[in-house]
Amino acid sequence: MKRVFNFNAGPAILPVPVLEEISRGSLEIAGSGMSVLEVSHRGAEYEAIHFDAQKRVLRAMNLSETDYSVLFLGGGASLQFAMLPMNFLQGGSADYIHTGEWSAKAMKEAKFFGKVNVTGTSEAQKFACLPSNVKPSGAADAKYAHITTNNTIEGTQWFALPETGGLPLVADMSSDCLGVERDFSKFSMIYAGAQKNLGPAGVTLVVIKKSFLAQAKEDVPAILSYKTHEKAQSLYNTPPAFGVFALNSVLKWVEDQGGVSAVAKRNKRKAETVYSALDEFPGVYDLAVTERAHRSVMNLTWRLKNADRDKEFLAGAEKLEMFGLKGHRAVGGFRASIYNAFPEEGCARLAQYITDFAKR
Ligand code: PMP
Repeated sequence: MKRVFNFNAGPAILPVPVLEEISRGSLEIAGSGMSVLEVSHRGAEYEAIHFDAQKRVLRAMNLSETDYSVLFLGGGASLQFAMLPMNFLQGGSADYIHTGEWSAKAMKEAKFFGKVNVTGTSEAQKFACLPSNVKPSGAADAKYAHITTNNTIEGTQWFALPETGGLPLVADMSSDCLGVERDFSKFSMIYAGAQKNLGPAGVTLVVIKKSFLAQAKEDVPAILSYKTHEKAQSLYNTPPAFGVFALNSVLKWVEDQGGVSAVAKRNKRKAETVYSALDEFPGVYDLAVTERAHRSVMNLTWRLKNADRDKEFLAGAEKLEMFGLKGHRAVGGFRASIYNAFPEEGCARLAQYITDFAKR
């Protein structure tokens, strides 16, 4: 099997042992004579995977079953942009920190259901850093505070969490879930499309604190209600079964690596390897993120000072089997997405290429 260095932002690289396990499962699971794609979601074979995956998510986040529930939903993180305010707002308000394209989309959807208090934004800096002056609204009707922990497009990431003024904290963790060490108990809800750090497209992870869920509205269509899904242990309707199978496999792989802390340490090293090569040639490369402390360890963004050579840079990388380095169309330049499954050798190769290109 040929493997290249895959820097795609999502869907993205998965660990080979995961690809092997899901390939085997695509043929047969648990000696059942059936593929994971063929078994009933109400049968013992699938239920074992489903409940196993829920337990592993909580274990990875160091959260307890007593306090938190795990849901596997469809619709991507984008559905969560709407489902969250639909369940918790309906007339009230929520605090949002605006840090880029994805938070803009989250706020746009929230406005259908209530008021959005923008409590911090780096829009004036074109999102090249995180806002330094986050100030909770203090609004009496505010139900939660929302952040995007990692800004996939711009390449910024929250390490220290912002102040919420006591509001339940909800995070879009699509692009750094289980990629950095966090105190997950600080969050009342976490959501993430799986297709970056967690598995394939098609399954969205939602981890919700039970005390927060208790505040959710009842007058919401059943399929869009967190309460429906939680009551049914995320088996209200047919779950994205194959995605959950793959997610469970990714979670096992994370455990085999030594857990989130080991993976996070490696991610930090990987990012430093690439950033230090870029930093060495300020005459050639512009780092897109202006504050060092805000640089993402998951999505690294930069531009060539001489954009006329963009095509040459990409073509040279592809010759060395490094693919997916083109920046998001909204910001241009380059982006290296180096999620959990991305190997250190790939970062070393990219750093060497960055150095060689600059010298040329
Ligand atoms: N939030 C963030 C931070 C993302 O990176 C993405 C996808 N790139 C989304 C939300 C949207 O996710 P989905 O495509 O799963 O709806």
